[in-house]
Amino acid sequence: MKILFLILLLISGLSGMAQNQIKWPENKKSTIVLTYDDALPSQLKVAVPDLQRAKLTATFFLTSDIDSNSIASWRMLSKKGFELGNHTVFHPCAGTDDNPVPSDHYTAYQIIREIEVMDRFLYAVDGKTKRTFAYPCAETIVGGKDYVDSLRKYTLVKYARAGGDSTAFITDFSHLDPFRVPSYGLEGGETGAQLIAFVKKVQQSGGLGIIMIHGVGGDYITISAEAQRQLIGYLQTQRNEIWIPTFQQAMDYVNKQIPLKAQKQ
Ligand SMILES: [Zn+2]
Repeated sequence: MKILFLILLLISGLSGMAQNQIKWPENKKSTIVLTYDDALPSQLKVAVPDLQRAKLTATFFLTSDIDSNSIASWRMLSKKGFELGNHTVFHPCAGTDDNPVPSDHYTAYQIIREIEVMDRFLYAVDGKTKRTFAYPCAETIVGGKDYVDSLRKYTLVKYARAGGDSTAFITDFSHLDPFRVPSYGLEGGETGAQLIAFVKKVQQSGGLGIIMIHGVGGDYITISAEAQRQLIGYLQTQRNEIWIPTFQQAMDYVNKQIPLKAQKQ
């Protein structure tokens, strides 16, 4: 009886896996999304020119650090098909070691209001009404409480990117929570070979891999310009195999193929 149960469990698991497979556009075999956080100057100076030369798109999660010097550039990028995402106004995080604004005293309502203000700010920059979000420091908790479900109910953003390591790519789409979309958060110093190894793992899985990048050749949590160039070079050789959309394009596509449930955690 026990064995029969195990066999049934195995079969249901396998058929579940088959259902969760996704067919990517243009017969591509997997998807990679490049995301850049915190509106860092090195992104405009180093990352963007290399992306544009390679005709690749990406998503930039911005805070109110965008200013009179950079807003014209961000606006131009939006016009050229890059996505500007919401990363709050002040980037509040737990503790104050690395971040000037601690999130410890925030309520869910306060951070959602802050996301709403940034939403209006970004509307003034690019005129877009649909927005994606990335949790500051990949933390879904403020003031000791998880605010994912509050954010979900507020319907301000449709998808939210969370964090993860190099194993955090998505293969099981039917269980994907659109407000906890995992990503490979770079820690800084990754080599081109390490970044390419991640892409290859995603390719083998047929899934979706999202990379969270900060500084490129400068600023903080930095990868070298050369590491990004090697990654871009590899992605260019895989153009027929890998789809490389913005975060919103990828999630809209996944949602259309496999309607994502508003899951309660
Ligand atoms: Zn950030």
